[in-house]
Amino acid sequence: MDQVECVVIGAGVVGLAVARALALAGREVMVLEAASAIGTGISSRNSEVIHAGLHGSADWLKVRLCVQGRHMLYDYCEARGVGYRRCGKLLVATSEAELPQLQALAQRAAANGIDDLALLTSAQARALEPELKCVAALSSPSSGIVDSHGLMLALQGDLENAGGLVVLNSPVTGADCADSRIDLRTADGTRLRTGLLVNAAGLQASALAATLTGLAPDQVPQTRFAKGNYFLLQGRAPFSRLIYPMPQVGGLGVHLTIDLGGQARFGPDVQWVESADDWLVDPARGEVFYDAVRRYWPGLPDHALQPGYAGIRPKLHGPDESACDFLIQGPATHGVPGLVNLFGIESPGLTSSLAIAEHVLALIAD
Ligand SMILES: Cc1cc2nc3c(=O)[nH]c(=O)nc-3n(C[C@H](O)[C@H](O)[C@H](O)COP(=O)(O)OP(=O)(O)OC[C@H]3O[C@@H](n4cnc5c(N)ncnc54)[C@H](O)[C@@H]3O)c2cc1C
Repeated sequence: MDQVECVVIGAGVVGLAVARALALAGREVMVLEAASAIGTGISSRNSEVIHAGLHGSADWLKVRLCVQGRHMLYDYCEARGVGYRRCGKLLVATSEAELPQLQALAQRAAANGIDDLALLTSAQARALEPELKCVAALSSPSSGIVDSHGLMLALQGDLENAGGLVVLNSPVTGADCADSRIDLRTADGTRLRTGLLVNAAGLQASALAATLTGLAPDQVPQTRFAKGNYFLLQGRAPFSRLIYPMPQVGGLGVHLTIDLGGQARFGPDVQWVESADDWLVDPARGEVFYDAVRRYWPGLPDHALQPGYAGIRPKLHGPDESACDFLIQGPATHGVPGLVNLFGIESPGLTSSLAIAEHVLALIAD
């Protein structure tokens, strides 16, 4: 049986960031990816926003890794020539009734260590974004956007320059974990022995972990799928900053983001689905978008939205349950030497990816 020191399953932004960090630390690394290209999963189906770390509790790993990851990501993009823009974000209250939510957000952000927010009146917000309708807004200047594909290519480049390898078309079907070694199987019958396995399979992380013999079933959480649909705006983007309404259950509300090419898109909404392959956008969902968007952009013309694309969030909670933290488990938690599982890496996983990699390295060192 062939042997490799470390195997990472999944060539999304998280798997590539972890593999890069391992390779830069001098480890022999192979990434096994089921698809025929890197970054075809959640990592290419998101808003590409560099989040500041405004949402979630200060004691959440998700928040800590977002704040740390944001700094690391801006530095990395600058150093490696990955496209990004620190365009800023406005979080808007569109009615007096939403003001307490906006104030609560400002307090939560302060507790999370975000000290650059500014509370704006309606007039101040409109001076920045003339087409915006709101009663007040929170400005987050350190939010931005990134070229997610450019980022993943740069991570892959670093990994390969450090001697690592990405192997495509290689779905892992299971593994036996025993005696400090892990024997992997792939769909074509290949067997591979490793001393360190990082499960960064995104939407499939729970299903994959359930195939690992030696890992107790109670260490594998159920992953549920919350699809987020996007609609693209035909024509010029009306705003230069990202515009976020108040968060809704399961997501951040139908917000406006802009990619580096200037394409404005609205979404994602929240649609709980059974399958992790349910990527089609139902054009009928667009009706709800018009109402949601016009609350902060009354100028949205009729028929201006086209179905775009969808991403699916790996959720560790159900539709009626409270939001969850990332769940990153190393040997100290589940007792299997050399195994790290990453569950529930939804937003802000892109922002956090470089910090997640550091976190995984620390778990292994422990
Ligand atoms: C709608 C939406 C919007 C988002 N917006 C943002 C945002 O604006 N900012 C932000 O910071 N985050 C955002 N996120 C979160 C971010 O996109 C994810 O956290 C991040 O992309 C997760 O990366 P990943 O590598 O864990 O997963 P993925 O990119 O899905 O990678 C997992 C990889 O594992 C592979 N795989 C699965 N099973 C196997 C197997 N058995 N063998 C081999 N390979 C396997 C898959 O093919 C896939 O390539 C958003 C997420 C969604 C869904």
